[in-house]
Amino acid sequence: MWPASPSGGAGHASSLLEAKASTRKMTKPIPRIITGDTLGQVDASQVPRFAGAPTFARLPRIDEVKSADIAIVGMPFDAGASFRSGARFGPSHIREASRLLRPYNPAQDAYPFELAQVVDAGDLNLNTYDILETLETIESGVTELLNFGAKPMTLGGDHTIALPILRAMHKKYGPIAVIHFDAHLDTWDTYYGAPYTHGTPFRRAAEEGLLDQTSCLHVGIRGPLYSKQDLTDDATFGFQIIRSEDFDDLGTEAIIAKMLKRVAGKPVYVSIDVDVMDPAFAPGTGTPEAGGLTSRELLRVIRALDKTNLIGADIVEVSPPYDHAQITALAACHLAYDLITTMAKAV
Ligand code: MN
Ligand code: MN
Repeated sequence: MWPASPSGGAGHASSLLEAKASTRKMTKPIPRIITGDTLGQVDASQVPRFAGAPTFARLPRIDEVKSADIAIVGMPFDAGASFRSGARFGPSHIREASRLLRPYNPAQDAYPFELAQVVDAGDLNLNTYDILETLETIESGVTELLNFGAKPMTLGGDHTIALPILRAMHKKYGPIAVIHFDAHLDTWDTYYGAPYTHGTPFRRAAEEGLLDQTSCLHVGIRGPLYSKQDLTDDATFGFQIIRSEDFDDLGTEAIIAKMLKRVAGKPVYVSIDVDVMDPAFAPGTGTPEAGGLTSRELLRVIRALDKTNLIGADIVEVSPPYDHAQITALAACHLAYDLITTMAKAV
């Protein structure tokens, strides 16, 4: 599975030939950073970052460990998208960009992959032709990860996937404080009569009693709505709104304070639609809106979550066909890195 190390005496071509000819070479252990019982990233001082298997941040697969604290899981599904599709290719695209993530996170002064066993659980096998079946597969997949002892760090996929994740999280934690980063409310009722879409997950979640309606927040809301009534409706589902413009008017520190006050003492789930960022920082997405957050603003807010009880997170709506030069995927993998670091510090 892994070619012989290029640092060996033989040239690269002959190493590959040897690997083909020899079972022993094929099963040679991958040089990883190991801390106690924790299996970490492939050691970039021995294997270059552009080589080897494309797990998230070059972490081990879930079947390579006995237990895990945090699991990255891909949900390649975009049949709930209302405009541009392509987010089904998001998980593998984010993983490819994540090869650049290094062991030490200076912004949080932590080595996340030493503090916790972090693994890549691969992608859920979702039926692109059947949304109801997909919702069930996601709920049971996330339940399985929680039973394994791992907090889920999901890579989407379109925003439809947040609903079944919240169903699984609610079974373990009860009503959840959701911090929802998005240009859009995602509390619409139906599209053409369809109740399960990427524009409706948080309305369904509220109706199903999955949310702690005294503690939820939308952050980064902006752009045109269908009607003024959308905001009136949204207020009934338990979300406070921090607008994109508030980053200028209030500043990051005041926004963080407001956010932490809102979710204090509650189990917190974070759902990040990458369109919360300005199209300059996240062009690769399905429904872009002008006037969004910078990746720097968003990362600062995310890093403050270490003062909350973070139980899981998702990053959704990365659509590679519209992503030039991996701009969106790089932002997404750095957001995941900081969310993982926050969860790892709590282990
Ligand atoms: Mn959105
Ligand atoms: Mn969304």
